[in-house]
Amino acid sequence: MYVVGLTGGIGSGKSAVSRQLETLGIQVIDADIVAREVVEPGEPALQRIAERFGNEVLTDDGQLDRRQLRAIVFADSKQRTWLEDLLHPLIRDRILQQLDAAQSAYTVLVSPLLLETDQHLLVNHTVVVDVEAAQQISRTASRDNSSEEQVRAILAAQMSREERLDRADSVVDNRGELAALAAQVSNLHQLLLTAAVRESESL
Ligand code: ADP
Repeated sequence: MYVVGLTGGIGSGKSAVSRQLETLGIQVIDADIVAREVVEPGEPALQRIAERFGNEVLTDDGQLDRRQLRAIVFADSKQRTWLEDLLHPLIRDRILQQLDAAQSAYTVLVSPLLLETDQHLLVNHTVVVDVEAAQQISRTASRDNSSEEQVRAILAAQMSREERLDRADSVVDNRGELAALAAQVSNLHQLLLTAAVRESESL
């Protein structure tokens, strides 16, 4: 099983790259979706969170109120650590199950926190999508209808562009048009197919 980690800052183009790889027949596991699944109603993690923080972190229909929870853990690093210690192993286990079930030539794990969590230990090859900060801000603000200040605050809390690039095995340069992105992803796909075959032959 050859696993490719795909990461990048907010608005760098991770989803755009993922969508293209899916059209090429590659299975993509999205860590953000998994992170939402582990706190759905009925999941033990949601129960533990409600026991610790009270019903104010639940909406009227019993869903996790992310905004409330975020406000609590942003203000208190001890609570944040507790929450991460609860969720990260659950997210990792579920990702592992999905990787196990995947059938494509290689599998992609797309995650904004690939390098910040131990998710990077699950991958054979790390792809970083890279853009200028100004592009991250303008593309995210127009995608999410959010203010530039909001996006700037998220950017400031994320790993620096330099550190991320330092840890990349491959870099996709998304500073240009979407057509230029597509050409790079198609080349990257060929490289990853070859790497996956080589890996399976060396076993
Ligand atoms: P991420 O998943 O990394 O947060 P997205 O793939 O959602 O980023 O890209 C952020 C926004 O920018 C989306 O609305 C996307 O359509 C747009 N976008 C991505 N790449 C380009 C590009 N090369 N040129 C113009 N817009 C782009």
